[in-house]
Amino acid sequence: MTLGDSGFMDRRIDTYLKPLVNEDRFLFFEEVARYADETIAPRILEWERAHELIPDDAIKSMADMGLFGITIEDHFGGQGGQHTDLVLMGLALGYHSHSVAITPGAATSLGSKPLMMCGSDAQKEAHLAALARGERMFVFGLSEPGRGSDAANPEVVATRDGEGWIIRGEKCWSTNAKWASHVVVHALTEPGGRHAHRSTCFIVPMDAEGVSYNEMGGKKVWEQSSTGSIGFDGVRVDDDMILGELNEGFKVMVTTLNGGRLFIAGLALSSLAFALDKTRHFAQERIQFADKPIGRFQRVQDVLVDMDIALEQGLTWLMELCRQYDQGTLAREQAAKVKIECSRVASHLLVEAMEVCGGVACLDEFGMIRHHDDLFVTRVGEGSNRALKTQVASPLVPDIRRLLD
Ligand SMILES: Cc1cc2nc3c(=O)[nH]c(=O)nc-3n(C[C@H](O)[C@H](O)[C@H](O)COP(=O)(O)OP(=O)(O)OC[C@H]3O[C@@H](n4cnc5c(N)ncnc54)[C@H](O)[C@@H]3O)c2cc1C
Repeated sequence: MTLGDSGFMDRRIDTYLKPLVNEDRFLFFEEVARYADETIAPRILEWERAHELIPDDAIKSMADMGLFGITIEDHFGGQGGQHTDLVLMGLALGYHSHSVAITPGAATSLGSKPLMMCGSDAQKEAHLAALARGERMFVFGLSEPGRGSDAANPEVVATRDGEGWIIRGEKCWSTNAKWASHVVVHALTEPGGRHAHRSTCFIVPMDAEGVSYNEMGGKKVWEQSSTGSIGFDGVRVDDDMILGELNEGFKVMVTTLNGGRLFIAGLALSSLAFALDKTRHFAQERIQFADKPIGRFQRVQDVLVDMDIALEQGLTWLMELCRQYDQGTLAREQAAKVKIECSRVASHLLVEAMEVCGGVACLDEFGMIRHHDDLFVTRVGEGSNRALKTQVASPLVPDIRRLLD
């Protein structure tokens, strides 16, 4: 048995990832995993116990590594990577903390991604280089207090006012709000328009007059990640702040979420990878009944084997879908399916793993309870699993879908 810096046996996830990605990608994964072991893991407990958000120096160290610019083209100063690289980063950081992983993860997959996909040349020139350096951060303003799964019909409204627009309303659950320089606001612009063609996205600076931010208190999941509500009290914006086409804002948001869901599936698998390593280590160390480790019990081995199979299956599926996403061929339902399944299976197996470890699993320093709580977000965030199943069911029952539409 070899123990790494994190005190675990060799990571089981390495065994599965290595044949699934090319050598450069695997080296990148290892580099980020080492950074997480050495720089993040030793500090998480302190942040958790103090109920602190990720401190600025940790954000800066991730920015210095280029983690905010992974998928931004190199001529804007980014790493020129693909979504596969971003998901690998999520697997490496999420192993110790979803909060840490989601910070550059959301900044990229939900922040700079819609700009790269739908932004004008002028908008890209204005923002991408600063986003790549982590000096600016865009947040994804889709969810609202009254509009979660029903996001196509925002209550945030943008009304025409001369040459520009006036935005009113409130967004919530906005990841990274504390550090945000801009919010991409999804607002109703054509109330009488066809379903999913009534809204427009606007890039709004967080320091614009009428914009307010409040950190959402009392959140016990992703505790070190900033989650804010953002208010718009008569905020004036111009046409050149429209991201994508007028009245096609929902398309911008939905297309962005396909990549985001792959990232969330990766976070779920990072928890499974952590729990598997922790539990197999524990099963060999914990002695009960006649000086034998509990790992000799077949019912304990069952849990380890189930986790091992789920991790290999999940990673194989996810890496294939990332490849399809990078080639532009991924079907929308596939991104939903992999998020639903990885979050469901990881959540179920994590509870089994905690039972194998017994009472110690509920201690914060053991690390499992953090993953237990954080996995909740993988089931609800970027589309609640139950609501997403409607999307997945569409190709299975197309006639029923047509009647409902
Ligand atoms: C930590 C965290 C970070 C987040 N970050 C962001 C972010 O950066 N930007 C952003 O815009 N949003 C963000 N979200 C919001 C997230 O995307 C929403 O929570 C999610 O879309 C579900 O919306 P809701 O919570 O309002 O649930 P609701 O829409 O109110 O749904 C509640 C429940 O009802 C059921 N339900 C709803 N619709 C259906 C349906 N059609 N079929 C079957 N069951 C259904 C489901 O069980 C669902 O969980 C974040 C959320 C969390 C918790």
